[in-house]
Amino acid sequence: MSVSRRDFLKLGGAAAGGLLLGTGAPNVASAGGEDPKFLLHKKIGEITTICTYCAVGCGQVVGVQGGKVVNVEGDPDHPINRGTLCSKGAANWQVIYSPERVTQVQYRAPGSDKWETKSWDWTLDRIAQKIKETRDKNFIAKDKDGATVNRVEAIAYMGGAQHTNEEVYTWVKAARALGIVYLEHQARI
Ligand code: SF4
Repeated sequence: MSVSRRDFLKLGGAAAGGLLLGTGAPNVASAGGEDPKFLLHKKIGEITTICTYCAVGCGQVVGVQGGKVVNVEGDPDHPINRGTLCSKGAANWQVIYSPERVTQVQYRAPGSDKWETKSWDWTLDRIAQKIKETRDKNFIAKDKDGATVNRVEAIAYMGGAQHTNEEVYTWVKAARALGIVYLEHQARI
């Protein structure tokens, strides 16, 4: 029997199809038109975010299943890291689940050798009190030449890469209103 080139290709295609079905390879029709190998990904919600650790600001894709983070990987569409992450960024899930994570305010009083757990209400009042005391004690209305400066050199403000633009904008406005002139960001240090 003579077999034309077209017949040969048809037979080859049918044989290959049979081989795939026989070996349990993905069958598009069996999953309502979807390739089963992608179904697992569909059950995991993916959320893009920015790594909280450093000023590089790498993009991450966080896999969430049942309200729990189950995977963290570099975002291939992010222009900063293009899918890569350093070891810290890859272990970012520990920020949420590490048993070592400090979840309450720890305060060590001057001269004390032990930490005490404090409430946020106590802590915020304490911070506000210390800022007010320090500012009042160190406020400089005029410099040595008599020029009005209205500044405080005894307090510094440090921002971090995990702050959003809006948070930093608000913080800088608050710091400037207090007369703070030493504003910095971890990325520049
Ligand atoms: S993944 Fe690493 S380099 Fe990127 S932002 Fe996080 S800590 Fe920085």
